[in-house]
Amino acid sequence: MRKRVFGSIFLTALVTLLLTASLLLIAVHTGLSHDMRERLASECGYIATVIEGDGWQELGRIGRVYADRITLVGRDGAVLYDNESDVSTLQNHAARPEIAAALEKGVGESSRLSDTLAEQTYYYALRLENGMVLRVSSTADSALGALSAASPWIVLIVLMALLVAALLASWLTHVFLAPIVSLDLHAPLKNDAYDELSPLLHRMDKQNNKIAAQLSELKRRQAEFDDITARMDEGLVLFSAQGIILFANRAVCALFPEDSAVGSYMTLCRDPEYIRVVEDALAGKSAHGRMEKAGRVYSLSASSVAEEGQGHAAVLFVVDITARDQAERQRQEFTANVSHELKTPLTSIMGYAEIMENGIVRPEDIGRFAAKIRTEARRLLTLIEDIIRLSQLDEGGDPAPFEPVELNALCGTVCDRLQHKAAEHRVTLRVSGEHVAVSGQRHTLEQMVFNLADNAIAYNKPGGNVLLETGVQDGKPFVRVSDTGIGIAPADQPRVFERFYRVDKSHSKMTGGTGLGLSIVKHGAALHHAEISMQSALGAGTTITLRFPKA
Ligand code: ADP
Repeated sequence: MRKRVFGSIFLTALVTLLLTASLLLIAVHTGLSHDMRERLASECGYIATVIEGDGWQELGRIGRVYADRITLVGRDGAVLYDNESDVSTLQNHAARPEIAAALEKGVGESSRLSDTLAEQTYYYALRLENGMVLRVSSTADSALGALSAASPWIVLIVLMALLVAALLASWLTHVFLAPIVSLDLHAPLKNDAYDELSPLLHRMDKQNNKIAAQLSELKRRQAEFDDITARMDEGLVLFSAQGIILFANRAVCALFPEDSAVGSYMTLCRDPEYIRVVEDALAGKSAHGRMEKAGRVYSLSASSVAEEGQGHAAVLFVVDITARDQAERQRQEFTANVSHELKTPLTSIMGYAEIMENGIVRPEDIGRFAAKIRTEARRLLTLIEDIIRLSQLDEGGDPAPFEPVELNALCGTVCDRLQHKAAEHRVTLRVSGEHVAVSGQRHTLEQMVFNLADNAIAYNKPGGNVLLETGVQDGKPFVRVSDTGIGIAPADQPRVFERFYRVDKSHSKMTGGTGLGLSIVKHGAALHHAEISMQSALGAGTTITLRFPKA
């Protein structure tokens, strides 16, 4: 713009300057021509008066004095006198325009350019009373001649004009553009620029306000979106139709900390299932999948969003379903285990019943068979009770209220209940420690201690000991059940709390175990926010401690 303004001003100044100079030249030249004609006319009149009064012989004297050329032509056009040329060399002048006009009308004038066009000769002719014609002529530089004579000056003047025009244009450009260049576009109405710019500045101000309002609305929405997506546990990724990651929320970055959520969809994850799901969505099909990564399971769900003329963008949800998956697997395992556990005693009962039904049992053996049926039925009942108890604890569905429970007395009760079994196993069962109360469900706590003590007797050795101990450590109430039994191998220790997990299946069954005792302890501990710790050594015994929260 600056160049265009400068160019326009410069050109205008230059054209104006040159035009003015040309017109001036023409005016001066026209004025000079006019003066010249006037002068010649008055000179001619004067000389005519002299020679008509004093005779044309006077012409010789006048001709010598005058600088201009004086010619006397006869009525027939023959040159009779000329103060600059030899008359005999001159042709007949009758055809010369000024002579012809004077002969005809009394006065004639003309002007002729020299061959080089550099000079112009002016002629003025006057018919005398005797019919002859007196002509006075003078030569001056023509306009072109005057121009070429002054050409060095003209070049100098043109150069100066160019310089002045350039300086003037530059200064005017600066002055003209300064208010525009210094416009504050952030606050258009505060500008003190040209009045003509006022509508534009008002418009700009309006647009600025509109843009600011739209921007703040966009920012608000963006913040809202960011807030929502940041709080989401699910991973959310948006892909452009070209498969470029446009957005990935915090959950995705946490799910794939070692991968980059920038650039192509391939940079986020290389799992074939992930790639299939994203590619399907980019191809316009909604897709679902499942992916395992770093020991966790994710469900992938991608939707396709059609973009006009550009293919399909995609939205991907990544949900960590490890816990759900595990729970589902556990439920399936549990169902299979329960069916199996129920089937074994029932098959035994069916077997004994069939033998008795067929009458192939000797009468003295009937009592023994009935006892076996009762044992298996008892097992079934225990198993079903444990399953019910476990599912109650699992669902957190036992509505029994929490109450203060004194642990040492509770151990005493359990000890009483198991004294008979301990005697059968030739194991000494004792209770020791201080009185300490916790808040909890009495029957759940009793079952937990019972299961621990029951195991401590069942997996003991004849002559062994079981100690139920209560107390407070670091402000936390505890119950500790320790035995001098067979112990648990380190590899089995973390697994004994799983449902139906038994270190030695036949031993467990022999002792009437269901494989659910420690599972119930684990769930009961979770209900009471208690921690379980286990120390065990093969052949030396096991100690399991339940630590309750500080009162
Ligand atoms: P079970 O009904 O078979 O006893 P539990 O869930 O109570 O089931 O225990 C799981 C397994 O842990 C048992 O089968 C047993 O192998 C082992 N176990 C539990 N307590 C002890 C213990 N005090 N000493 C040795 N092994 C134990």
